[in-house]
Amino acid sequence: MSVQQVEVLVPIPILEKFSYLLPSQYKDSPPRPGTRVIVPFGNRNLVGVVWDVKKNITAKDRKLKNIKEVLDNKPLLDKESLELADWASRYYHYPLGDVISYFFPPPIRKGKDAKFAEVKFLELTSKGDFLNIDDLSKAPNQKKLIEVLKDKRELSQKAAAAYGVNTSSINALIDKGLISRYVRELSPYKKEEVPDVGSVKKKLNEEQKFAVNSIIKSENHNKVFLLNGITGSGKTEVYLQAIQEVIKKGKQALILIPEIGLAPQAEERFKKYFGERVLSFHSAKNDREKVDAWLGASKGLIDIIIGTRSSVFMPMKDIGIIVIDEEHDLSYKQVDRFRYSARDIALYRAKIEKIPVVLASATPSLETLNNSLEGKYEILNLTKRATGASLPKYLPVDLRGKELKEGFSDELIETSEEELEKGNQVLIFLNRRGYAPSLICKTCGWLSNCDRCDALMTIHKRPPKLQCHHCESQKDEPQVCPSCQSNDFLSYGYGTERIEEFLTKRFSKFPVLRIDSDSTRKKESMNEYLDLINSGRPMVLLGTQLLAKGHHFPNVTLVGILDADSGLFSADFRGSERVAQLMTQVAGRAGRDKKPGKAILQSYCPDHPQIEELIKGSYESFAKNLLLERKSAKSPPFTFQAKIQAESANSYVSRDFIKALINKLKKSKTYPKDIRVIGPLPAIMEKKSGVYRWELSVLSGSRNSLHKFLDLSQASLYDTKTSKRVRWSIDVDPLSSI
Ligand code: ADP
Ligand code: ZN
Ligand code: ZN
Repeated sequence: MSVQQVEVLVPIPILEKFSYLLPSQYKDSPPRPGTRVIVPFGNRNLVGVVWDVKKNITAKDRKLKNIKEVLDNKPLLDKESLELADWASRYYHYPLGDVISYFFPPPIRKGKDAKFAEVKFLELTSKGDFLNIDDLSKAPNQKKLIEVLKDKRELSQKAAAAYGVNTSSINALIDKGLISRYVRELSPYKKEEVPDVGSVKKKLNEEQKFAVNSIIKSENHNKVFLLNGITGSGKTEVYLQAIQEVIKKGKQALILIPEIGLAPQAEERFKKYFGERVLSFHSAKNDREKVDAWLGASKGLIDIIIGTRSSVFMPMKDIGIIVIDEEHDLSYKQVDRFRYSARDIALYRAKIEKIPVVLASATPSLETLNNSLEGKYEILNLTKRATGASLPKYLPVDLRGKELKEGFSDELIETSEEELEKGNQVLIFLNRRGYAPSLICKTCGWLSNCDRCDALMTIHKRPPKLQCHHCESQKDEPQVCPSCQSNDFLSYGYGTERIEEFLTKRFSKFPVLRIDSDSTRKKESMNEYLDLINSGRPMVLLGTQLLAKGHHFPNVTLVGILDADSGLFSADFRGSERVAQLMTQVAGRAGRDKKPGKAILQSYCPDHPQIEELIKGSYESFAKNLLLERKSAKSPPFTFQAKIQAESANSYVSRDFIKALINKLKKSKTYPKDIRVIGPLPAIMEKKSGVYRWELSVLSGSRNSLHKFLDLSQASLYDTKTSKRVRWSIDVDPLSSI
């Protein structure tokens, strides 16, 4: 019996799947799950994805609407992708139709053909094939084209132009019936030989060899490795060589990187190993490039995809390994709409595909470290720097009672000068962009508050403005105080622009490069900076966390951390973990090559136990201590957490929404017992972008109970009629509380 009824997912925030009838023209070859269809929905048409096909229909279903059109002649998503989407939807409590749309680049999501660009081709007609070439001796261009076509059989119109044959010659030949023109899809990817890597491939040290072998050994089953290697220990080299073995077997690899700015250098390094069958995928690519990469990966024409967060959904024909570089990085977690963690999705994907995953980091997240200590992941340690260099020496500078110049101690200035004079590069780290974090009226104490957030607006000088870093709203710096009309202002605190001003004056002989998200806004500027840095000339690099991530700067011998105390007293229990990771990563930029490096940490509380640990330079012992603290406080990863947040234009409305939700849930017969609920509480920054946010934190020792609670909540939230005034969200494994 033929298929009658089709379950379709549509990309709207609704939990149900929708059923449609299959029109008769499709009955002989009904669309399979993963195929796109156009369906009527309300008074619009939507592009949906077939989820299930059913053979029987019930009487009531006969009233269903018809599918309008089947867009693909075979499914665009395979069984594994559909299974992954289904799991992610249930795990993150986010509608499946919306989750599915993450598996497609925008044009395909919108219903465009899943095809490479179509190109005009030329070929000989049989008349042209039998032509005596000398008949064309009066038209040399036409003759040339016929000659080429006799040799190559087909040629794109663009390639013909490269032979100097213009459109009028082509048209003349078409008019004479000697050649014909047709349109064909053209893949930009060719099956190329893997280049000879003899000269690039490093001879591995014992720890690296052991790591590569362990990974290769588990190539056909699901196993998670924590590649726990200090900065510069050759982690990248390890996964490059492991991937090489996977590719040799004809399989593909997916590499996740935290930051789009790292894509060019990663791509370059991979290309040295794997030639042109490596591609990067991120938001700066245009639609054509995204579709090409997506098609290339799903048809198996690309061996390796290097991409940021959303690449974790990239369909691949035969995936053999996933690597997550800098696995601790916060950017793997999406913080709005679908609040997934690309790392955790990758772990599940690898489980479905039965392949190994490598989590690489010098500063693993506490979650990952704990899983490794519990034996769920295999730890591969790299304890030495691969080039033979030693780790940087940590030198604390006690700021108490010291006179500072624009935040710099004499020690930091003098050491920087010495290094620059020796021809080395110096990296100054301050994780705050802009000129200064606040503007204060010296007369009445007026502060540059943001109207839309519980936050201060940052002063920027280039271009001049006040800008809120939470909602991005901007205004002009006031000429006179809005409150008392005085014009006596104080720029309070330091940002990278201000430090740049100081450094440029102080070290006028040397270039100062400021690298933050303002100075690298233009697509190419990060690459230009990297080229300058790689020239090796003495210079000062000044930057935010953008500079801390993954870069290899061989000539940096000194790292100066202006404010090691920042984040020590954060309201977020994850604050110390973040600071430790960031400081270790930044300090790790020093002395990565032949010259030894040092890291100066300026602090007002050098005897604070956490700063002391950092100065000892052991992230691991620091992290293990933090784990003990978390264990006794019963906080994640020793308990599982989710957050439900409500936001609206009115603080009471948000609060009452959460209150009503929890009251309703508590009455439910299936309310799980082993759940701890905290709230409603205002978010740490209650007002943000003009809305007031209240939340409920839910904790449980059992994932199962947590999900049961969230299932109940989700059903109730979708049911709530008042929700027009309130926007709500569910965040499973939340990472930040701002
Ligand atoms: P990580 O990823 O741990 O930061 P990389 O793989 O980038 O480390 O290695 C740091 C530097 O050491 C790079 O310049 C790399 O080419 C080099 N390197 C890595 N492994 C070796 C090795 N076995 N022998 C010599 N140099 C190596
Ligand atoms: Zn004032
Ligand atoms: Zn704001």
